[in-house]
Amino acid sequence: VQVDNDIRIRRELITLKDLIGGGQFGNVYKAIYQNPETDEKMTVAVKVCKTDAEPADTQLILQESSLMRNFRHAHIISLIGVCVDSPMWLVIELAPFGELREYLQQEKDWLPNKTLILFCSQICDSLVYLHSTRFVHRDIAARNILVCSPQCVKLADFGLSRALDYDAVYTASRGKLPIKWLAPESVNYRQFSMASDVWMYGVCVWEIFSLGIKPWIGVSNADVIMHIEQGARLQCPDKCPPSFYNFLRNRIWAIEPHKRPTIDQIFGIVCDVKRQIDRNFEN
Ligand code: ATP
Repeated sequence: VQVDNDIRIRRELITLKDLIGGGQFGNVYKAIYQNPETDEKMTVAVKVCKTDAEPADTQLILQESSLMRNFRHAHIISLIGVCVDSPMWLVIELAPFGELREYLQQEKDWLPNKTLILFCSQICDSLVYLHSTRFVHRDIAARNILVCSPQCVKLADFGLSRALDYDAVYTASRGKLPIKWLAPESVNYRQFSMASDVWMYGVCVWEIFSLGIKPWIGVSNADVIMHIEQGARLQCPDKCPPSFYNFLRNRIWAIEPHKRPTIDQIFGIVCDVKRQIDRNFEN
């Protein structure tokens, strides 16, 4: 398996500690990494890939790691390195507070709107960055956002993200898709673009203001797309400012991709909403 030397890490520099969770490709552990250059120890997360993983899956994981390595942003989980030999280990930045969805559910009784819009602005910021490098993430959802501190969330899980070619639309060929988060063109034609990321960002904002509730509960995947095509949208969460909700409903969730705002335009709006909420808090 081909991996650049500068992201290889010697396994003996890592001590695995507690199990954090399990995913499709293996378990994730908290671990200590001793940096060979500075001798400093840091706490990290290690994805231990299953030993019986298919070669194709190993290739996917490596692809994810080499993508992640190119991204440097305050709100994107960073890759520290890879132990390549089986079992492959991906060494990544640890998010001590875990998944955003669980965090929102656990802390819902005290989380102020100020924090919710802060999280929305940080994820938007990370997408402005990704789109500026012509990447589409394709799996933007609260389950793929990690909480590093009570004031800082980061986008993770680049398993599905792709560089766009010249026509700026990527057609997915296989695999299960998260239907309830997807733009209509992604469901109908498996088309992914910056505009479909924008739609998903809207669903993710909805999840944040709904404090970790999943979208379209009790509605089947097949019915969701039918409702959307008939004009139905997720309803305004109690905590979401109505003007911001209207922006989601009328602009971000426009059926036609070209009618949606760009992530840069959305960032401008999110910053305005954030300023308003912050002002209300001061008064
Ligand atoms: P998939 O298998 O599709 O990637 P997943 O997100 O469930 O889905 P992992 O990314 O392997 O799988 O994550 C497994 C668990 O470990 C999840 O609960 C996730 O929140 C946690 N986790 C993953 N990365 C980190 C991290 N950097 N810091 C803290 N917890 C993490």
